Amino acid sequence: MDVLEEKEIENLVSQLTGEEAVNVVKYILSQGENVSEFLIAETLEAPINHIRNVLYRLQENNLITFTRKKDKKKGWYIYYWTFNHPEAKATIKRMKDSRIENLRKRLEREDSSTFYTCASKCLRMKFDNALENNFRCSECNKILKEMNNTKIIREIKKELSMLEETSSEENSTIAEVTA
Ligand SMILES: [Zn+2]
Repeated sequence: MDVLEEKEIENLVSQLTGEEAVNVVKYILSQGENVSEFLIAETLEAPINHIRNVLYRLQENNLITFTRKKDKKKGWYIYYWTFNHPEAKATIKRMKDSRIENLRKRLEREDSSTFYTCASKCLRMKFDNALENNFRCSECNKILKEMNNTKIIREIKKELSMLEETSSEENSTIAEVTA
């Protein structure tokens, strides 16, 4: 398999095309390339029309590509499918980058503000909003108190450093290949 972890591929497929596409992709990957749609349907014991529907959705998301061959006897085309590694890899990278970007923004917000909440934790507000509400929760009317967000900050930092680590590994792999 490529540098992509199988788990990452499964997550991507499930997010973009749904859980039922994961088995189809796993089977295509296990067979290498140019996998007949009939073989997929037979192996997964699913109706061919259902499998075609899943394949079509995978193709819409650029996760698989096809070649087709005419069946000379029957006169129709048979489609052969291959997992689109470069596109999947690029999509995973894009999603990871945007997650990193969001986490950085969130971290900045958490670091630069003080948040307030009631004892039931109905909602969280910044100081200005809490002041406007006379430090009363707008849901339950209990007193708002300053909230310790150290734990949230720690969680964000943890996820961020994990993501940044894996994405810099990928960058260095690419650099080695192109060097
Ligand atoms: Zn409340």
